[in-house]
Amino acid sequence: MLTSPLLIDSHGRVMRDLRVSVTDRCNFRCVYCLPETEEAAHFYRTKFDAIRNPSPKKIPLPALHPRSHILTFEEIERIVRVGVSLGIQKIRLTGGEPLLRKDIEGLIARIATINGVEDLALTTNGFLFLRKAPALRDAGLKRISFSLDSLDRDNFKRMTGRDGLDEVLAGIREAQRIGLGPVKVNAVVIRDLNDGEIVSLARRAVDDGFSIRFIEFMPLDSSRAWQKEAVVTGREILDRLSTAFELERVQSANASETARRWRIKGTSAEVGIIAPVTEPFCGHCNRLRLTADGKIRTCLFSLVEHDLKGMLRSDCTDHLVARRLREIVSGKEERHHIGEEDFAQPERTMSCIGG
Ligand code: SAM
Ligand code: SF4
Repeated sequence: MLTSPLLIDSHGRVMRDLRVSVTDRCNFRCVYCLPETEEAAHFYRTKFDAIRNPSPKKIPLPALHPRSHILTFEEIERIVRVGVSLGIQKIRLTGGEPLLRKDIEGLIARIATINGVEDLALTTNGFLFLRKAPALRDAGLKRISFSLDSLDRDNFKRMTGRDGLDEVLAGIREAQRIGLGPVKVNAVVIRDLNDGEIVSLARRAVDDGFSIRFIEFMPLDSSRAWQKEAVVTGREILDRLSTAFELERVQSANASETARRWRIKGTSAEVGIIAPVTEPFCGHCNRLRLTADGKIRTCLFSLVEHDLKGMLRSDCTDHLVARRLREIVSGKEERHHIGEEDFAQPERTMSCIGG
């Protein structure tokens, strides 16, 4: 019987963090997420020669959901409200590219006024941020994370499929200028593609006053071409940073935090390493994910999803939605199985699940 008013799984973990994917569409085609061409998809098999000279042959996009299958703002707000009544404190909007969702600031305004939402953040590739910035802040957004894998214009284009470095850098500056700081920047590190930029990205964080998180490449790419050889491990990232900087460990009060963090001595800049592949943090996971089409995922690597949209579109009470959420959470996976013989990549990819 489910008696606790909180979302507790069978391993005793309490869910506090809900990541909401607001769209599965994206204006970028990152090689590790939603590659645009066969060559980009298999960049690590071909030793990267192909994407230096990409062929125009495009891969069809994974099936996008018709708009009627996508949750409305009212529906997302309702799920967030129910989640908050069950102990969720932190909401992160993601995608796909969340800034592609029309009137995203309207959704932010709705969520920002829910009593109990302690943190409201958004993860973006940053390309459209400049034109949206004041509206997002005024709507009540508290924090923003940008994805930035390279400071070299050609390499940025190779990795994201778009010539957008200047726009993203301008977006980061604007977020800082309008008070959406401290800004976080996420960089997925891929061997032989941008691992040579780890130190320069960290140096940029020092110079420009943002925090940077280096993320291990995970098997969630739409081409299913992930190989462990392309993963630059958290250990290796730390070694490279340690050769260039004096690092001081920052202890976190929050056991569920995914990043291990360091301050670069003599500066206010912080570097973090998120190493889900080689140093899993499943034991402290407090996250749930809601997909744009209304499915709850209890793990990035879940092989099953739980539909809430059907309930919302029938005459279902909040009480029943809450009960269903608690049932779903009770079955949350203990851990992921990356690197083990029984590992199976989920059908949906990062661009649909939301990072
Ligand atoms: N489009 C937005 C962006 O790129 O910031 C939000 C969605 S994106 C799926 C969220 C995060 O997932 C990004 O920081 C991205 O770098 C990361 N990501 C995507 N595919 C990944 C993969 N295969 N391994 C590790 N991180 C990945
Ligand atoms: Fe789009 Fe973000 Fe995936 Fe890049 S990582 S393709 S920006 S969803």
